[in-house]
Amino acid sequence: MTEKRQFRAIKGTRDILPPDSALWNWFERTAREVFETYGFGDIRLPIFEETDLFARSIGSDTDVVGKEMYTFLDPPRDLDPLPRPPEPTRPLSDLIPREVISLRPEATASVVRAYIEHGMHTLPGNVKLYYVGPMFRRERPQKGRYRQFYQVGAEVLGQSDAPAIDAEVLEMLLVLFRRVGLTNIKLYVNSIGCKECRPKYVELLRSGLQRVKDKLGADSQRRIETNPLRVLDSKLPEEQAIIETLPRISDHLCGDCLAHFAKLKDELKLRGIEYEENWRLVRGLDYYTRTTFEVTAAGLGSQNAVCGGGRYDGLVELLGGQPTKGIGFAIGTDRAMLSIQEGSAPKLPGLGVFVAWMGAKAYPAAVAIARKLRECGVAVELPPEEMKFKKSLGLADKLGARYALIIGEDEVASGTYTLKRLSDGDQRKLSENDLLEYLESERRS
Ligand code: AMP
Repeated sequence: MTEKRQFRAIKGTRDILPPDSALWNWFERTAREVFETYGFGDIRLPIFEETDLFARSIGSDTDVVGKEMYTFLDPPRDLDPLPRPPEPTRPLSDLIPREVISLRPEATASVVRAYIEHGMHTLPGNVKLYYVGPMFRRERPQKGRYRQFYQVGAEVLGQSDAPAIDAEVLEMLLVLFRRVGLTNIKLYVNSIGCKECRPKYVELLRSGLQRVKDKLGADSQRRIETNPLRVLDSKLPEEQAIIETLPRISDHLCGDCLAHFAKLKDELKLRGIEYEENWRLVRGLDYYTRTTFEVTAAGLGSQNAVCGGGRYDGLVELLGGQPTKGIGFAIGTDRAMLSIQEGSAPKLPGLGVFVAWMGAKAYPAAVAIARKLRECGVAVELPPEEMKFKKSLGLADKLGARYALIIGEDEVASGTYTLKRLSDGDQRKLSENDLLEYLESERRS
């Protein structure tokens, strides 16, 4: 006989249970509503893509692609029962790209792939898309950091890189955050230049870093060669003073990038959006150009970035499309929820009516009224088996119902219902019509 064993969710993944899941749904629903008022449409994307899509767009030297992707071969080689990741020593390019697949670590690359694949550049105006769903990164799990986490993101693709687009995207984001009650919101913005000025700055930064190499930790030392911008992301306390002495991108932007950034700041002011400039905000992914931004919120400890994003004007072309401008962001839903739950989460309507029926004659009436109430949108619990009256009311209370609808033989005989409000015991006898009207008026109040 096989030994009994209990299963647990895999490290870094978790279940989101009711009632929390209702709050998550409310958050995602609110995001959809807000984004749709800005003209964005939902795009549903695959959960896995060719690894090469992520390697080319996010960058092979980034932590996300280099260390954190869940990658497998499809079909698995040698009929292995479990697919194995490609050997780390073999470059991915040695393998047939279409057979090396990764769970998506983010969705911008997929959106751009879909934009090109479906010829969306022929659509009128800017193409505005949003997505909602899980992402996968093999990170060290901690509060606010998971291996399966959720993002709500939006992207604008088209021919214009007007800073007004960047500002409107940020406005939309902040409208959402305000609507869901996130507190202590801080928006940080930066410009990391374009393909003209950024490489020159990166070289300058690299030589600046070479001069202080001995004082840096192993990770930063390695990044001097692979990705010097990432050194600016360092959170190591002993590196902070050194980083402050390094050349800043804002002093090395080309004229066009400087003008773009200045206009963005004007556009933010026009919209009454408060922001702080942060020259070290380079973001971890290679595809960003010019505008980068991050939003932090209350209650998140060290993982306090609730949203990150920026411009990626070269990405469509890099992935084989026409020259196209792009900007987008991704909100970390797990973190947004943590922040909302630490603050004052809204009280969502739960169970409305618990039908406390007793006696075989009451049962058909209970079934009928439960169905009618549900048709009117009321959440109803109908016990499948007869329960003693006291037990019924006890359970109604434990389930958090607002009302108990009492149906006994008396009620059936008189064709009425007794509705008891559980918060204060208020009790009234009502006909079916009056009951429906009463619940409707209570719902509106
Ligand atoms: P990124 O795609 O890295 O720009 O991240 C965008 C946002 O997603 C971050 O600001 C976080 O809120 C969230 N996020 C990124 N990685 C994780 C993770 N491992 N767990 C939870 N949230 C994450």
